[in-house]
Amino acid sequence: MMSINLKLKVLDSFKQLHKARKTVFKGDSYALSEARKKINGEFKKQKHVKDVKEIEELIKYANAVETEIRTCVIQAREVEPGKYRAEITKDTLRLDNVPYKDCPKEWNGVDAKLKEIKPEVDKWICMESFGRRERTAITRLSIGHTNLTSSYLLAGRQPPRCEDCNVPVSVKHILLECPRYGHLRRRIAIPDRLNLCLGESHINLRKTLAFLGTINLLSKI
Ligand SMILES: [Zn+2]
Repeated sequence: MMSINLKLKVLDSFKQLHKARKTVFKGDSYALSEARKKINGEFKKQKHVKDVKEIEELIKYANAVETEIRTCVIQAREVEPGKYRAEITKDTLRLDNVPYKDCPKEWNGVDAKLKEIKPEVDKWICMESFGRRERTAITRLSIGHTNLTSSYLLAGRQPPRCEDCNVPVSVKHILLECPRYGHLRRRIAIPDRLNLCLGESHINLRKTLAFLGTINLLSKI
């Protein structure tokens, strides 16, 4: 028999998830409805669970998902192949319309542009739904061979060097080291180790892709 205390905990995690859903997907009726279905469906699926330990684990999981939704879900719209605009909420990161060196024009007036975009056409980067291009990028990043860092081999050119740091451009340099992106790196909260950036965590992968998309490098991977 489930204790009242445990029942309240389950109810609370359910409520918190819906609260996060409403905040993060605000203005996007499609995403709001899909997320509601998903949350309700997941809870329904576990309704039969009677084991207290198992229920406690599920609550922990629900709370973790809630935190993830709140802090990591980034609404992104593909503006051209491989190039994304990220919609940021108060719990994730705030961009100040500061143009980064690699995408000077795109970020000007981005807030105004985002408002013009019909919510329905926006795409959400979901935990389980990396597209073909994202998967390709993840694979290339994971093995350290990207067009950006390795194409010189085929073209017979000098290895590219970072203009700011005068070191060879590498996946690691871009994701972890180059001070040019330090600001954004902290805001997106990119993990500080390469194996975490490109590991099995969908959250971290999403952050990594959002980071690369934001600095306009995803299309060059
Ligand atoms: Zn650098």
